Amino acid sequence: MADKRDFYEVLGVSKSATPDEIKKAYRKMAIKYHPDKNPGDKAAEEKFKEAAEAYDVLSDPDKRARYDQFGHSMGPQGFGGGAGAGGFGGFGAGGFSMEDIFSHFGDIFGDAFDGAGSYGSYSRGGAQRKAVNKGADLRIKVKVNLKDIMYGVDKKLKLPRWVACESCKGTGAKDGTAFHTCNTCHGTGYVNRVQQTMLGAMQSRVVCPECNGEGKTIEVACSVCGGEGIVKKSEVVSFHIPAGVQDGMTLTMRGQGNAARRGGVNGDLLIVIEEEKDPNLIRDDNDLIYNLMLDFPTAALGGSVEVPLVEGKARLNIPAGTQPGKILRLRGKGLPQYNSGNHGDLLVNVMVYVPENLTDEERSAIESLKGQPNVTPSQSTVHRIFSRLRHIFHRESQGE
Ligand SMILES: [Zn+2]
Ligand SMILES: [Zn+2]
Repeated sequence: MADKRDFYEVLGVSKSATPDEIKKAYRKMAIKYHPDKNPGDKAAEEKFKEAAEAYDVLSDPDKRARYDQFGHSMGPQGFGGGAGAGGFGGFGAGGFSMEDIFSHFGDIFGDAFDGAGSYGSYSRGGAQRKAVNKGADLRIKVKVNLKDIMYGVDKKLKLPRWVACESCKGTGAKDGTAFHTCNTCHGTGYVNRVQQTMLGAMQSRVVCPECNGEGKTIEVACSVCGGEGIVKKSEVVSFHIPAGVQDGMTLTMRGQGNAARRGGVNGDLLIVIEEEKDPNLIRDDNDLIYNLMLDFPTAALGGSVEVPLVEGKARLNIPAGTQPGKILRLRGKGLPQYNSGNHGDLLVNVMVYVPENLTDEERSAIESLKGQPNVTPSQSTVHRIFSRLRHIFHRESQGE
């Protein structure tokens, strides 16, 4: 390699250039000499690399200070921040890889580059994803009734799931020892790959094809699990469903799902709540609704009736003259709110039964009431009653 040109000269800036001026200068050079714009042009490629190396030093206050003091004499090790990644093809001569070059592109091209989306996978300044080998989540449906929702419930279910093989301790290797760190990725589970894109060579991290991202290679496979490290097993799983859950809600039990192949993190157990319909009570969020069919004499004369609760019954007082459509509220007899102690109410929706079949005697009793002033509602009575029954249809003007 010929003698290195002065880095300030390479970027065409003065020794006192501000970081912003340096950035702008490099940006210009990077666009001008980008390999995609100059296919097969060795001189352009050289300039592209030269500018990148100059920028790498001058954009870093520390390196720039050392460079100002010692110049190139410090040699590659002085500026070899990226040398560990190894050279890439023709660019590697100075210990400067394409990874180093593209690692700056996020800074240089900023949002425009990030916005491209599809280039999001290129390696940026050595940020490394950790290889995580996670088992599959296990999704089950669990039926709960109102009592379960009221008090919470402990459930036990026999579930077939993948668990770590005991024989190899989940490693997949015979006796749990017959494996070694993967030579291709050195145990990281990822390898760097350079791809040609419209912006030039892009470096990305991909799952190691040698070990499938597991970081290790098996020498002798475990005979029990065939080297998978997991076996299918039916086990009894216990879990608690808290009070107040709702239909369709998913509870996540961390780490209770399937074990991962050859060690790693267990998947989660996802419990989807399926609410059983209650024969008497209708759920409305945390309130419960009971449709009470009241006989006409009790509605007119008053009395008491039994209404079902989630557990047991309650006796409810019916005042004389209770209208159909009236809602009687039993405070706190509804369901608890999920993650709080607050209870909803039990709303008793009163309907009045109109007899469908009558004996002659009953018929004449009712006929004797017909037309009586207290049985026939006046216009003002109608207004008064309707104005109290806010949930039924009535015109705004029908007020007090
Ligand atoms: Zn095994
Ligand atoms: Zn590997």
